[in-house]
Amino acid sequence: IFSEVAAKNNQTLFIVGGYVRDLLMKRQSPTDIDFVTEGNGIELAKAIAKELNPKLKVSVFKNYGTAMFKHQGLDLEFVGARKESYAEDSRKPSVEIGTLEDDQKRRDFTINALAISLNKENFGDLIDPFEGILDIKNRILRTPLEPSQTYSDDPLRMMRAIRFASTLNFKIEENSLNAIKNESERIRIVSLERIMVEFNKIMLSAKPSAGLKLMEETGLMQLIIPELTALKGIEEVEGQTHKDNFWHTLEVVDNISTNTDNLWLRWAALLHDIGKAPTKKFVDGIGWTFHGHEFLGSKMVKNLFYRLKLPLGTDMKYVQKLVKLSSRPIALVDDGTSDSALRRLLFDAGEDLEDLFILNKADITTKNSSKQAKFKRNFEEVAIKIKE
Ligand code: ATP
Repeated sequence: IFSEVAAKNNQTLFIVGGYVRDLLMKRQSPTDIDFVTEGNGIELAKAIAKELNPKLKVSVFKNYGTAMFKHQGLDLEFVGARKESYAEDSRKPSVEIGTLEDDQKRRDFTINALAISLNKENFGDLIDPFEGILDIKNRILRTPLEPSQTYSDDPLRMMRAIRFASTLNFKIEENSLNAIKNESERIRIVSLERIMVEFNKIMLSAKPSAGLKLMEETGLMQLIIPELTALKGIEEVEGQTHKDNFWHTLEVVDNISTNTDNLWLRWAALLHDIGKAPTKKFVDGIGWTFHGHEFLGSKMVKNLFYRLKLPLGTDMKYVQKLVKLSSRPIALVDDGTSDSALRRLLFDAGEDLEDLFILNKADITTKNSSKQAKFKRNFEEVAIKIKE
């Protein structure tokens, strides 16, 4: 039906973007398919929808020149092929009508610029002008055009590069990586909401440290969450050092990510040591201390969520609570609230046990029953929340 309606309208029609990429990579079943036509995308969407079912509701986004409708549980989006040019201060391009190739050129990565023809003369053909298939095979992220231009035109693409590297387990090609380092400051013209959509996809990937490391390496972390960059480094006084809390944090995030897909639990791991940079002190006779970092950290969570335009409701409070309890090892326990769970917690925490043990030693080992009860209450509250 799709290709017949397009032919009747004298328009070409192609599937492009993520659907083609995921099909070639045999990734999970799709939720949306993007179509490009050389011609009017909105009119073609309406014509196809009418043919499929006259009652189908088509949503039109005039400003973007796109239209979409739902069909067999999929979001189908249509756009007319376009050619883009960018102004210095905006990631909104000015748009002209273009060919399929123009449209493929404006895509962010070669693996996202693949198209499948739905036209009679070459139905089913893969159109791959930038060797995207080879890049999929080699697991490489490359831009169709010159990388600095691509990233400078729309700096959100820097976050998208790192997001795809992290979620697909791809390498960012060297020129691209250098371009991101050079253009990182341009991220400032992108809204935080858009940045955070990509950031949260990094957080939800199987091994978030891959993306977090790339953010640090390119300078994007310093620009977006400098509080994390501040945890980096080891100082030495009188021969005494402390651990590098940035790399330690990444390990904890990866660890927790093998146990949970809960985004906010992963955020709690990311921020669990956030108060350590501003509380760090070297005390004679004692060594390095981070006294009060949990309390400061939980206050910092609030400022951070506010600044990053993350939701300020129960999810934030949950993260605050975990940071305050300095309790990412608690987060590893999801099977109950009994004493045995508490013991298991100490066991499971492994290397991190030392931290928890020092911080809560008084509570855990205390003979003071009211203190112990308080610790247990806190623990139960968190454990219940995790179970939910
Ligand atoms: P996913 O569904 O996993 O997020 P996707 O590739 O479908 O991946 P979308 O954000 O839905 O991601 O984008 C659809 C397609 O639009 C992409 O495959 C890419 O071709 C193009 N695209 C999206 N955002 C940009 C951008 N900022 N610059 C250039 N092309 C983009």
